[in-house]
Amino acid sequence: MNGLEAFWDETAIVPISALEHYAYCPRQCALIHIEQTYEENEYTLRGRSLHEQVDIPRTAVEEGLLSHSALPIWSIRLGIIGRADLVLFYPDGTPYPVEYKSGRRKVKYHDDIQLCAQAMGLEEMLNHPVPKGSIYYHASRRRREVVFSPDLRRLTEQVILEVRDMLQRGTVPPPVNDARCPNCSLIGVCMPDLISTLQNSTASYSPFRLVDSEDAG
Ligand code: SF4
Repeated sequence: MNGLEAFWDETAIVPISALEHYAYCPRQCALIHIEQTYEENEYTLRGRSLHEQVDIPRTAVEEGLLSHSALPIWSIRLGIIGRADLVLFYPDGTPYPVEYKSGRRKVKYHDDIQLCAQAMGLEEMLNHPVPKGSIYYHASRRRREVVFSPDLRRLTEQVILEVRDMLQRGTVPPPVNDARCPNCSLIGVCMPDLISTLQNSTASYSPFRLVDSEDAG
């Protein structure tokens, strides 16, 4: 029991995974968390297979540090809930969250926001500062360390508010229709090209255009 329900309406509790989806594309977040749409592509399949290896709660010693995998995480202050792939504990008790991603090492702010939310949850649960963590990129077998700076913490809290607002309203934003789309598993159901074309043609339609300018006035 994490006690979140005593402080938050069920509809206001934000899944930590939704933060990453929203920071990547708000429409992707809405399709997954409001419309319950889920499609696989090569990236999600690779990610799922990787997560199956860390989805089993387990305590071990790694590189001389105590580690917990699939650790439940929440924050009553922020109204968020989720699970950390792995949390290492330094001898002084400092937690160090590690998130596994299937791709290659690359700076991705949506990954950092997800990890930062986990860190803020750990801080509240354990009453211990969590200054940094890392993303492990399976394809390149490399880690990228993330420092939980005041700016990243502020951005993460802002994203939590925006996701909560969107989920409670139940609104699905329009497609971004940009370089994010070709790698998105939801491109088939989202149809960013078609929706954007329809929206543009609707926006350029005006009943006043039916009146020839020479007839106007
Ligand atoms: S296809 Fe593009 S617009 Fe649609 S959900 Fe994915 S990233 Fe967002």
